[in-house]
Amino acid sequence: MLTLSNDNLITAVRSLVKEERRITRDILDHINEVERRRLFADLGFSSIFDWLVKDIGYSESAAYRRMQAARMLRAVPEAAGKLESGVLGLTVLSKVQTLIRADEKRTGEKISAQEKSEILTKVESCSGREAEHRLAQHFPHVAAVPTEKIRAISEDQVSAQVTFTREQFEKLKRIQELLSHTHVDTSNASLLDAAMDVFLEKKDPLRKTVKPRIAPCDTAAEAESAESVRPKSAKISTSLRPVQTVKPSIRNHVFKKSGGQCEYRDQKTGHRCSSRHFLEIDHIRPRALGGTNVPENLRVLCRTHNLLMAECAFGREKIETFRKPRTNLVSGQCSIS
Ligand SMILES: [Zn+2]
Repeated sequence: MLTLSNDNLITAVRSLVKEERRITRDILDHINEVERRRLFADLGFSSIFDWLVKDIGYSESAAYRRMQAARMLRAVPEAAGKLESGVLGLTVLSKVQTLIRADEKRTGEKISAQEKSEILTKVESCSGREAEHRLAQHFPHVAAVPTEKIRAISEDQVSAQVTFTREQFEKLKRIQELLSHTHVDTSNASLLDAAMDVFLEKKDPLRKTVKPRIAPCDTAAEAESAESVRPKSAKISTSLRPVQTVKPSIRNHVFKKSGGQCEYRDQKTGHRCSSRHFLEIDHIRPRALGGTNVPENLRVLCRTHNLLMAECAFGREKIETFRKPRTNLVSGQCSIS
């Protein structure tokens, strides 16, 4: 390296950066293919992001940028050439994808591929600051929303910067006023802690007391007869059997047994999915194949792995047809088992 002349050194860097851009494009294409095949689920990861961080080893921000940029290339394939030539960078592609998704969520309407392509054209060859400025003009409702900064400051302390709406902030102030004559700690962190406790006591199955009443319902017939029928609004018109809810005491028992974590394991590596989000009760032997609600037939899976198990049992093509009406599902229930 030290023997290179100045001219050759500069030429070498130019050449390496060109190669880096080509490799980046290749990586994004491969990430898209892994996501299309959902291979991360087979390997015991709950999402493509989870896989990129925990298996591939990217930092969270690097994984997020690549995941979002890959999705942008999927939506606008011609942007791949612009990435390779340096006209569009990874960060800008990721930012545009993030804003598009946020805006689609806000309006409930999809942005067309044509419009996405036009947005990308607006930020070609821009510096990061200039791209942000132009994107803020295009997405005035979502680009200005400040991100929440979370930072670990010690082993048992985390600093979280949160932006409240005026209305939310007034609620916080009102609680502080009501408690001002007491000795209760009215710091923001303590009040939020108290509110979180109230929520978790109500909603977290791991906190709920499990009454030792599993045994009396331990036969299929008893478990079936104890169930309430699924609400009418949640019925799905399929050839599979409609789902009935699992008894709350059995649900709590199964959640406690799982430790509040997805129980899927990759058979080859033994890697257990670490997801604690979107957990659902899964029937090991699907209900459509005669499985019942006895505790031994139940386990906790994240949505990704609940879906994967359903695909294994019924075939991907059939399950794909059930994925769209997800809003019809009863919260926390597997609709296809
Ligand atoms: Zn999982």
